[in-house]
Amino acid sequence: MNVLVLNCGSSSLKYQLIDMDTHAVLCSGITERIGEAMGKITHKAFPGTPGQKVLNVEEPFADHTAALGRCAGLITGGEAPVAKASEIGAIGHRVVHGGEAFKQPTVIDPAVVETIKKFCKLAPLHNPAGLMGIEAATKLFPGVTQVAVFDTAFHGSIPDYAYLFPIPFELYEELGIRRYGFHGTSHGYVAKKLSQVLGKPFEQTSCVTVHLGNGCSMAAVKNGQCVDTSMGLTPLMGLMMGTRSGDVDPSLHPFLAENKGLTIQQVDSLLNKQSGLKGICGLNDMRDIHAARENGDKKAELALKMFCYRVTHYIGAYLAALDGCDAVVFTAGIGENDPDVRQHACETLGGIGVKIDKERNYGFKRGQITKISTDDSPVAVYIIPTNEELEIATQTYSLVNGK
Ligand code: AMP
Repeated sequence: MNVLVLNCGSSSLKYQLIDMDTHAVLCSGITERIGEAMGKITHKAFPGTPGQKVLNVEEPFADHTAALGRCAGLITGGEAPVAKASEIGAIGHRVVHGGEAFKQPTVIDPAVVETIKKFCKLAPLHNPAGLMGIEAATKLFPGVTQVAVFDTAFHGSIPDYAYLFPIPFELYEELGIRRYGFHGTSHGYVAKKLSQVLGKPFEQTSCVTVHLGNGCSMAAVKNGQCVDTSMGLTPLMGLMMGTRSGDVDPSLHPFLAENKGLTIQQVDSLLNKQSGLKGICGLNDMRDIHAARENGDKKAELALKMFCYRVTHYIGAYLAALDGCDAVVFTAGIGENDPDVRQHACETLGGIGVKIDKERNYGFKRGQITKISTDDSPVAVYIIPTNEELEIATQTYSLVNGK
């Protein structure tokens, strides 16, 4: 069976069609600038194979339905069709926020759509986009089973003492204010991959997963269950990120209001868009930061140190919370590709059982699962490439096939 994976942003739509027998990606693409004067699709048929064909489309798309309709045309017809419409067996949607209602992937029906709508207030930038994708797919692929796979779901097992904030309890009851966590599909995927690599049942695998990409988060997984994660009610909490601050003193809001005359919305925007790596050195892509460091940029050096220190700090906290851990797993754009970050982040962790092997760390091969700890390290350290699309497809396929 082929599963179509959809990941919608407010003006974008990413997709992959995956053959679940072979896990081959039949096509992948991204549609950008939906709703603008001119839109764009970059479509790859049979990506990464000798038969790869790249198609570029530039035309306006009024909404997500128009964009998905055009993508469906590229998938099933035109210059490089990869499957017939009838061969799309199921559709898996990335939905960011499932609140407390969805701790598992869920077949989409009208009641599920209504519940996802309720969580728009918790993810105002993301859930409405996910809903637009669901609406588009419902119109274009009537009769095809659609499944919602939630970013928050893997964190559904976090215990109350770890997910509650120490604020009046009524606010949790009334508004659902608590830690939810994000990137759950990625954390779950690499934790499961680790259990396969170690040859252990997932239910007996404990690890700290470190997702360092555009957004950064960590999770503590005890015996296959997530017991803590660094993001909170929103994806602003926790680690330092490209443009997001991560943890700051919550009294920053009134302080900035008083001393800079900023509104709550302006402070929120400052913490989300002007902070993190960018706030310290003006650059938010780690590759640019390394280039600047090489040219002697002291602020770029400081930004890297701060970024790594936060990672160290959380790994230490999660090792303490886990009371026994098989491995620390680095993943996503920075985690997979940046040996300097991994080296700095693990530098001071030898005393608590995380010993990194410099040669292995710097000798890693891009895209491959690699052990980068020393042989005598009590806690192993791995690079495991994430694959959120495959995880969404796998969860969708399993649900549709009653597994
Ligand atoms: P992701 O969100 O997982 O796609 O990660 C994107 C981020 O990964 C980019 O913003 C870069 O900062 C970072 N990145 C990608 N490739 C590299 C690399 N070779 N070295 C360091 N950072 C990288």
